[in-house]
Amino acid sequence: MRKKSLEDIDVEGKNVLVRVDYNVPLDKHGRVADDRRVKGSIPTIRYLLDRGCKVILISHLGRPKGKLVKSFRLKPAGRCLSQLMDIPVRCLPECVGDKVRKAVEKSSESVILLENLRFHPGERENSPVFAQELASLADIYVNDAFATAHRAHASTVGVPKLLPSVMGLLMEKELETLGSLLTEPPHPFIAILGGNKVSDKLGVIEGLINVVDTILIGGGMCFTFLKVTGIEIGHSVYEKEQEGETLGALKEAREKNIKLVVPVDFTVADRFDKDANTKVVPYTMIPPDWMGLDIGPSTVEKYREIILEAATIFWNGPMGVFEWEPFSLGTKGVAQAIADSRGTSVVGGGDSDAALHQFGLEEEMTFISTGGGACVRLLEGKNLPGVDALENQ
Ligand code: AMP
Repeated sequence: MRKKSLEDIDVEGKNVLVRVDYNVPLDKHGRVADDRRVKGSIPTIRYLLDRGCKVILISHLGRPKGKLVKSFRLKPAGRCLSQLMDIPVRCLPECVGDKVRKAVEKSSESVILLENLRFHPGERENSPVFAQELASLADIYVNDAFATAHRAHASTVGVPKLLPSVMGLLMEKELETLGSLLTEPPHPFIAILGGNKVSDKLGVIEGLINVVDTILIGGGMCFTFLKVTGIEIGHSVYEKEQEGETLGALKEAREKNIKLVVPVDFTVADRFDKDANTKVVPYTMIPPDWMGLDIGPSTVEKYREIILEAATIFWNGPMGVFEWEPFSLGTKGVAQAIADSRGTSVVGGGDSDAALHQFGLEEEMTFISTGGGACVRLLEGKNLPGVDALENQ
């Protein structure tokens, strides 16, 4: 069911409570170290300001566990927003209570950022009282925090029960882009999956298996795939308890005629360390005491050829321990191939996004999701509580 968006309601002159995701990294001076999430919220804020609204922003930052933790105050995000939009942003030191209500009423600034929701246990507990306090500040609720949509918290599912509730422009774009992968992707559709754990990605394989043509596997997760087919993987990452499901995924791919491709070589290391001894070996020759920490150059070449043929690409998860230079080449090679491809490329947040920034390739992608967990969950075909809570069209 399609959800209502901003364009579906009259917001003119209203007080609008906007759930954004300002869960941003801060540097040692307490400044926003990466402003992408703040930037992502600007189109919705601008849309509302253009229609004479008072915009009341709510977000969490970090995991303060229901208590005030100074280092998780949202003021740096407010300052960052103010600079990016070149407008005053009023940052309040609380998110609920009489003082907040009065400050919102009297504020001469049109953009107000309330304090970190998670300073109150009611946020994570989805307390109806806490939700009511937040809802009492506004006429309309907008959820633009896609990255938090997989959480059922007061600000994502409690408040929308109490106010007319629609999705913001970022949320709408995320749902449209990721949703189109599952419904009508141009073919060939290639999914590239990596990252540490196979347990995190089997659901995505399950979700995509009916729509993709090929799945390229890398990262730590590929070793469980190799091991279940009898290949020796030395000390590489392995999740024994996932054996059954991994075999199931291989079987399903075979039955559905989906190509599930695993690496043909690896950069292996004699220990899990940036300065470990390394060498490149074929996938069948991982030494017993060594571990695979990156896909090898022949795999990059093979994956590149497949990627260049794609009309649609979805990428989630690095091909190796990309944070360490000796094991970053596989991820870089795959990212470069996606950048060089003419297909539509969609990147599912988290570490793949970080890797793209490390390599300076982020501008080359068609779309980078702001949500890691939410993106994966959506592609698994699961519901997002924060989206379900919004009004249907
Ligand atoms: P995930 O959060 O599951 O997407 O995993 C991302 C993490 O997986 C990154 O921090 C990588 O360093 C790590 N990773 C990727 N490949 C490997 C590997 N072969 N062995 C161990 N860790 C890996």
